[in-house]
Amino acid sequence: MYCVCKEHVELAIDKFVDEYEDAPDLVNLGEATFTAWEAPKRCEWCDGPAEILIV
Ligand SMILES: [Zn+2]
Repeated sequence: MYCVCKEHVELAIDKFVDEYEDAPDLVNLGEATFTAWEAPKRCEWCDGPAEILIV
């Protein structure tokens, strides 16, 4: 699972496919609400805001 900014979505998808050999689901963090989990504020690979969850 990766939380990334918009610029790193492609990178995250590539990594996800490499690691899990399956296509990920993309969740827009701005539209999703989580009860038992708080999404990271920052991108996995830069200081940009985490906007997309790759799961
Ligand atoms: Zn980023």
